[in-house]
Amino acid sequence: MAYYSIQGIPLTSLAKEFATPLYVYDADKIREKISVLRSSFQGFPLSIKYACKANTNLAILRLMLANKVDLDVVSPQELELGLMAGYEGSQITFTPSGVDFSEIEFAVSKGAMVNLDNLSVLEKFGQAYGNSVSCLIRIKPHVFGGGNAKIMTAHPESKFGISIHQKEEILAIVQRYGIQVSGLHQHTGSDIKDGKTFQQAASALFDFAKDFKDLEIIDLGGGFKVPYSPEDPGVDMQEVGGLMSRAFLDFCASYGRPLRLWIEPGKFLVSEAGTFLAQATVVKKDPIKTFLGINTGLNHLIRPMMYGSYHYIFNASNTNSSEQENYRIVGNICETDTFSFDYDGNQNERMLNKVQEGDVIALANAGAYGFTMASHYNSRFLPAEVLIDQGKAVIIRKRETLDDLTRNQVF
Ligand SMILES: *Cc1c(COP(=O)(O)O)cnc(C)c1O
Repeated sequence: MAYYSIQGIPLTSLAKEFATPLYVYDADKIREKISVLRSSFQGFPLSIKYACKANTNLAILRLMLANKVDLDVVSPQELELGLMAGYEGSQITFTPSGVDFSEIEFAVSKGAMVNLDNLSVLEKFGQAYGNSVSCLIRIKPHVFGGGNAKIMTAHPESKFGISIHQKEEILAIVQRYGIQVSGLHQHTGSDIKDGKTFQQAASALFDFAKDFKDLEIIDLGGGFKVPYSPEDPGVDMQEVGGLMSRAFLDFCASYGRPLRLWIEPGKFLVSEAGTFLAQATVVKKDPIKTFLGINTGLNHLIRPMMYGSYHYIFNASNTNSSEQENYRIVGNICETDTFSFDYDGNQNERMLNKVQEGDVIALANAGAYGFTMASHYNSRFLPAEVLIDQGKAVIIRKRETLDDLTRNQVF
């Protein structure tokens, strides 16, 4: 799985030209994933709503827009970024979790579709807009979804959505204010590959939807798993898309008219397109293990430390696999910020082609929830970002300076 170049440009050249730590994105890979999705869902109108919390760089948003992919946003600021990238409000859906009503008003004022996830906000929406603005309602279908519990969102104890068991309360509020519910939504969680889970959640939502007469949209969320290593299977998109498509067509037939299907992939579209490049700063031979220290840490890529996520890691400076060593790969932050985890979420060691200090170390699957979760912890600068398109590497976020750390401080 180690790859030493992207669109013909060696990773080592990118590290040399733009320095490290550096996020690098492959535009072709994103386009490929968009077309896989389109060909997997067939037989009805489909809208892809990119869940942009995965990666909000404006260049990435523009790439999505150019490929007719809409946006799903979770904050007013993501909405603003979408507008800045050139989206119309009507191409954006606001799916927040437990926010103040002023954020809903803001989204409505920009022409975005809002997705309401609690009874209190539904009531306020009815009072404010009556039947003049349509909305989506987010349902919690009470399905487990398997996988990493930290990233599941549809199980009974999840904070997300209105419980499927509160249909009567929802309908009462909808009727009281004449609210136009144009769509129902559910999102099961992240890193799900099992078609049955998607099917289960979808069929719970379809069953629920029978009592809503004015629907135009069913939104089945995102969460499609991507492969993290050569042995690791991602979602079989053709199979899952086929299952979901058939179930959706059956639902439309029983509902009595054709509807539009929305899906909200984040990770599926951008994870594999991203590679995070760092530099080997120290090879520390300890009596027990060898630590490989790199010039980044949980301040730049927190998924392993936060979720025990697996990232495939390789030495981009050494293609010779005849001499390998086992390294525990760690960051430079004053915390235990280990990058090398196994599939069970335990810190481990990785076999890498022998590392010399100064080598470029690459972390795969860094396009989603990488930069967007980065922080200034330890007062280090955020990484720079580069987009590779048509064989050219272009800087899409400059490296920071001390001004970026002090800008809003008053002293
Ligand atoms: C985060 C999120 C997604 C995307 O999840 P992925 O695992 O990145 O596909 C989709 N819908 C909603 C509402 C989300 O919050």
